[in-house]
Amino acid sequence: KKRNPDEKEFLQATREIFDSLRPVFAKHPEYIRNGILERLTEPERIISFRVSWEDDQGKVHVNRGFRVQFNSDLGPYKGGIRFHPSVNTSIMKFLAFEQIFKNALTGLPIGAGKGGSDFDPKGKSEREIMRFTQSFMTELSKHIGPDVDVPAGDIGVGRREIGYMFGQYNRLKGGYEAGVLTGKDPNHGGSLGRKEATGYGTVYFVEEMLNENSLSFKDSKVIVSGSGNVSTYAIEKALQLGATVVACSDSGGYIYDKNGINLDTVKRLKEVEQKRISEYVKEHPEAEYHEDCTAIWSIPCDIALPCATQNEIDEIAAHMLIGNGLKALGEGANMPCTIEAITIFMENGVLFAPAKAANAGGVAVSAMEMSQNSMRLAWTEEEIDERLKLVMKNIYESCKTAADNFGKPGNLVMGANVAGFLKVADAMVAHGIR
Ligand code: NDP
Repeated sequence: KKRNPDEKEFLQATREIFDSLRPVFAKHPEYIRNGILERLTEPERIISFRVSWEDDQGKVHVNRGFRVQFNSDLGPYKGGIRFHPSVNTSIMKFLAFEQIFKNALTGLPIGAGKGGSDFDPKGKSEREIMRFTQSFMTELSKHIGPDVDVPAGDIGVGRREIGYMFGQYNRLKGGYEAGVLTGKDPNHGGSLGRKEATGYGTVYFVEEMLNENSLSFKDSKVIVSGSGNVSTYAIEKALQLGATVVACSDSGGYIYDKNGINLDTVKRLKEVEQKRISEYVKEHPEAEYHEDCTAIWSIPCDIALPCATQNEIDEIAAHMLIGNGLKALGEGANMPCTIEAITIFMENGVLFAPAKAANAGGVAVSAMEMSQNSMRLAWTEEEIDERLKLVMKNIYESCKTAADNFGKPGNLVMGANVAGFLKVADAMVAHGIR
């Protein structure tokens, strides 16, 4: 706290981990002797750089770019790139810190990083996005590589932006390094199933948790916040498992249809036409549109899947959801619930699937994309889906076992923190003090 006084998101993420790890330190004094906690909370490296670019009118703009290379004990730094005006050092550090545990939980050989820029892609032309992205990669390219650091997408960075970054990286390097980025188009070096992986994986994880408690998505009423990459495929998988998804949102507001929203319309509006979610009601007058996206949590539901952004569910939203009969919550976004909200859910018996575990499917399939790139072959969609299901099942089992072993059965927040920590801490001890 003394070293990072203004980094509120980063401090929130570390506090949640510390709270879980007390019983681990009591059992394992070697982690204290080796300064694991002190080393684990200080990034190996933070790169901050200027990104200058020219808009369509010839005006020059300057944004700030970041890459936080947090931990490389389990493999090359791995984590997405976010383009959003709110991006700052604290948000980059919290995301990269969470990534350490998440990536460890996948059981795959990947370290942890995160990057991005305070660039706002909203309202920018296609060419402006390309020029910005190329300028961003011109600097970032000095710090990444298939065995060093492998970025992917996140908020504001999808297949299009990854494509421009990939093109610029290879132009600068004068070759074709397929494994330098993940989330590429499957027709040009990407993996099938990557686009769907985070959303599908979240639903697979939550379904494990529900089944364990004699519940399921079937015939459940679900709310998914956001309407971006994670949300869209969480909705798709929940529908495939027999749920009714009654609401979704964007940063402008939310739509509600008690009979279930139409995913084809949401996909076309958001993925193809890049429009606002408010347009939905023009085609579906039976649905309602409300400004204020945070009010989405006032709608009654059995299962909530926050898939938009950090801290979107606070104490007030938590109380509303519980009052309306919420049974389970799965975090598709990173840290979408405040610590206070999580405490309220746990105290009221809501089944809670934490982000580190529940949304690890995206990075897991990214690691599979790295494997395919190294082997220069492509797995089928079915193979990827089977592997994804298995990874999510294994993560669920590790979280459950860790929670049991450290005296908090059923507490998956603690289980995820402990299971992820043990994996990376053992590697840090093995690699010596550095
Ligand atoms: P997208 O940019 O595709 O979608 C983000 C969605 O959330 C949009 O609908 C956006 O609305 C909405 N949103 C963004 N900021 C806010 C805000 N401040 N308030 C309300 N709504 C907001 O991003 P992703 O789907 O990729 O990422 C969503 C979350 O999932 C993030 O927390 C990300 O870190 C996490 N995640 C993503 C992974 C991936 O594979 N993509 C992997 C693991 C985690 P609008 O369009 O109006 O901005």
